[in-house]
Amino acid sequence: MTDRSRFWRFYEKANAVVRTFTGPADIGAGHAEEPEVRRPDAACPICGKPMNTHTVVRHPGDIREPSRLLCP
Ligand SMILES: [Zn+2]
Repeated sequence: MTDRSRFWRFYEKANAVVRTFTGPADIGAGHAEEPEVRRPDAACPICGKPMNTHTVVRHPGDIREPSRLLCP
């Protein structure tokens, strides 16, 4: 038996013990989820005008520069 398979057996046994008091992993958000829908005419958090009247400048000049949102 290799060290790796011995470690794996130890890992599986330890996990089996842990699962007796934690149960299986929780998945999901705990409530019914729906696809996220973003309206293009939602109000801008900065100026309040519709977002589809704005311009997004992604990395102006250099990849290290942050993207900018230009309000109309
Ligand atoms: Zn705006």
